[in-house]
Parts: sequence; structure tokens; C-alpha cells
Amino acid sequence: MDTTPHQTDVAIIGAGPVGLFAVFECGMLDMRCHVFDALDITGGQCAALYPEKPIYDIPGYPRIDARLLIDRLFEQAAPFAPTYHLGHAVSGLERAGDRFVLTNAAGVRVTATAVVIAAGGGAFGPNRPPLDGIEAFEGKSVFYLVRRREDFRGKRVVIAGGGDSAVDWALSLAELAASVMVVHRRAKFRAAPQSQNRLEELARVGAVELVIPYQLGGLEGVDGRLDAVIVADLAGKTRRLEADCLLPFFGLATQLGPLADWDLAFDDSRIAVNPATCAASRAGIFAIGDICAYPGKLKLILTGFAEAAVAAHAIHPLVHPGEALHFEYSTTRGVPGSE
Ligand SMILES: Cc1cc2nc3c(=O)[nH]c(=O)nc-3n(C[C@H](O)[C@H](O)[C@H](O)COP(=O)(O)OP(=O)(O)OC[C@H]3O[C@@H](n4cnc5c(N)ncnc54)[C@H](O)[C@@H]3O)c2cc1C
Repeated sequence: MDTTPHQTDVAIIGAGPVGLFAVFECGMLDMRCHVFDALDITGGQCAALYPEKPIYDIPGYPRIDARLLIDRLFEQAAPFAPTYHLGHAVSGLERAGDRFVLTNAAGVRVTATAVVIAAGGGAFGPNRPPLDGIEAFEGKSVFYLVRRREDFRGKRVVIAGGGDSAVDWALSLAELAASVMVVHRRAKFRAAPQSQNRLEELARVGAVELVIPYQLGGLEGVDGRLDAVIVADLAGKTRRLEADCLLPFFGLATQLGPLADWDLAFDDSRIAVNPATCAASRAGIFAIGDICAYPGKLKLILTGFAEAAVAAHAIHPLVHPGEALHFEYSTTRGVPGSE
């Protein structure tokens, strides 16, 4: 539990591409940031849903893998020393005088002058399999996302699920894991036909074992270290699969959650903003990226980047009242640590 009270200029909810770029834009205007994300990694949809897919419409990059774009944005924000609070959704947002207090389930409490909501489609969370005691293994040997495939080199990996993530990661990890078993409750997978054919081919040559039709039944291990995954077929017959890691891929769910209770005006399920400032309906709260709505809004990363700049300029007078903001290019100003 982090019970130290934090003070900052801007609290950013969401560490997706747009939230990360907001750190840079705020930093360029001398505003410090704390950034929250429900996921335990930065990158939002780019990191959680398509890290290895190339993006073609980021200006200046004819092609860039989503994960690499996030690495670059993280690097670009770093000179402004943001503080990240990852792994828990912001659950509370309250007004305290002329400031805001944000809290999460880990006991983090941040007081900020302005709030930027860059929450995409809502807080990401995995669909967890209902296994007794799974929490003790999470982050140690049960993972809902693959951060770095190298982490699985030489490991006995059990993957559960029948969609694209399960199949794509089985194909990818088969190249470096000690063994890969794929547990699915149906004989048919719901993945791209090409990937499915490739998986069946790997199963034929013994590079992957398909454990079908089975579903997860339990976990064995101590102190979060997995020894085996117990699976059961529809008739209740069980098997014990020796394993170091379990990757359950049952999809990620997004939840607007507490955002919906913060007295903000919504347009459909997105936060209505004034496009000239990205200000939401409550003073001091701004929304940018996929979560915001205004006429003509495009749900694209590049649009979110521009909104981050617009919001930072609108927030400046709140954080630095009475200080004139002289517009400067980054080429004129530079960033901390640049020559
Ligand atoms: C398969 C796919 C391909 C795509 N390809 C492209 C493309 O080629 N070009 C393009 O421009 N766009 C593309 N997109 C869309 C692009 O990914 C989104 O526009 C972009 O991710 C929006 O960024 P964001 O930062 O606003 O939100 P997100 O990336 O959704 O990040 C929001 C973050 O906020 C967090 N969050 C939400 N609520 C809370 C809370 N209460 N507390 C803490 N954290 C919270 C979430 O966990 C999440 O991590 C694609 C999307 C998908 C799914």
C-alpha cells in the first residue's frame, strides 16, 4: 500500500498513448504529472490489444509496431519525471477546495490542480478464470498479458483460451518456450484461419500440445510459483499439466466504472468536451483521446495527441495563475536534458 499523500499539478487517468503524450505536453508547460492506469503496464490499447501489430498512420513513422510507439512515448515523457500508479483503476475523484483528490484501491492518494481523463474505452481488466486462489499467482506465474516474450524462454507454458490471443501467443512462444500446451473447451478455435492451420501443424509435429476439449479446473503451487495446472473435460475427467506459467486469454473487459459517477456530461458513453479546450462539464476536468466526444471527433491516436496539446494549454492558467503563457515551439524551448 502506498499511503504517502502526493501533490501534483495534473493527474492523468489513463496511461494509453494519449495519456503518455499528455505528460510531455504538460511538462513542456512546466506542469508536473501523476499518471494512473488500471493495467500494470503503460500503453492502453496499443500494449494490451495489439502490441506487435504495425501502425501506419503515426506522422513521421511510415510504420511502427504499437509496442515500440509506446516505448517512444514513455521515453519522450521521461524528462518530465512523471509518477506512475499502475495496476489499479482510479476509484475516487473528489473536489477538495480548489483542487481534486484522486484515490485508488492500492491506497494511493493524489491531490492535483487539474485532472485529465485519457481513459480510452474505460479501465482495462482481464476476464479472470474462476480458479480458487488465482490472485496469489497473478503477476508471478499467471499472466493475462505478455509483456516480453523473452520472459517465457525455457518455461513450460500453459495457454488457455480459443481466440486470436491464445493462438497467436501459442505460435510465438512455441519458438522459445520449453513446452506449450493450449487448453480450450472446444475442438475449434476462433482465430484467423491461417493461424489456426499453423497451430494444428505445430501440434502435428509435437511443438505444441492441444489439450481439447478441456477447461481450467485448478492451480497447484506454493508462494505464487506454479507447479501444475489442473484441467477437466466436460465429463469431469481431470489431467494435471506440469507448468511454470499459465496465460489465460479470455479477453480484456473495459469498464467505465466510477467515471460514470463523477457528474460529467456524457455523449453516448463518452465524455462531452469543448473541442477548443478539451474541458469537460466540470471545471478543472479535461478529457482527451478515445474517451472524449465532440462533433467530428476521430478516434485515432494522432487526434488524441493534438487534444493533449490543446488540454495542456487550457490547464496552464489553472496551474500557473497570472503567469502569461508565451507560446513556444519545442525547437525553441528544448526539453530538460536536451542540448
Ligand atoms: C486492433 C486495433 C488496432 C488499432 N489501430 C489503430 C491505428 O492503426 N491507428 C490509430 O490511430 N488508432 C488505432 N487504434 C485505436 C487506438 O489504439 C486508440 O485510438 C488509442 O489507443 C486511444 O488512446 P487513449 O490513450 O485515448 O486510450 P487507450 O489506449 O484506450 O488507453 C486508456 C487507458 O486508460 C485506462 N483507464 C481507463 N479508466 C481508468 C481508470 N478509472 N483508472 C485508471 N486507468 C483507467 C485503461 O486501462 C487504458 O489503459 C486501434 C485499436 C485497435 C483495438
